[in-house]
Amino acid sequence: MSIHPSTLALSDLVNERLSGAECVFDPELHDGPDPWTTIEPAEARAAREDVAKEVCASCPVRAMCDEYAARVRPERGVWAGRTAQEIAVLTVAARVA
Ligand code: SF4
Repeated sequence: MSIHPSTLALSDLVNERLSGAECVFDPELHDGPDPWTTIEPAEARAAREDVAKEVCASCPVRAMCDEYAARVRPERGVWAGRTAQEIAVLTVAARVA
């Protein structure tokens, strides 16, 4: 029997998300370059995000990551196959529905 991510405390989600996460091998792929020091062209960002989403697709902790991202609503990066902007839109849509 598995535990649904929505029932876990945020701190447990962080631990579960980090254990087995594929993005730990190349964090900049998911987060992008430091926005304070680097301007990432839109085309480069889109290409990077597409690759990050592919990595997420086979990540063993994607469900935990998805739940975590829905709760913390990150400001940047790719989380569970979605950009921070896509997560924000889904969160607003879920609140309206
Ligand atoms: S789903 Fe993507 S962002 Fe989330 S832990 Fe896995 S690789 Fe990282």
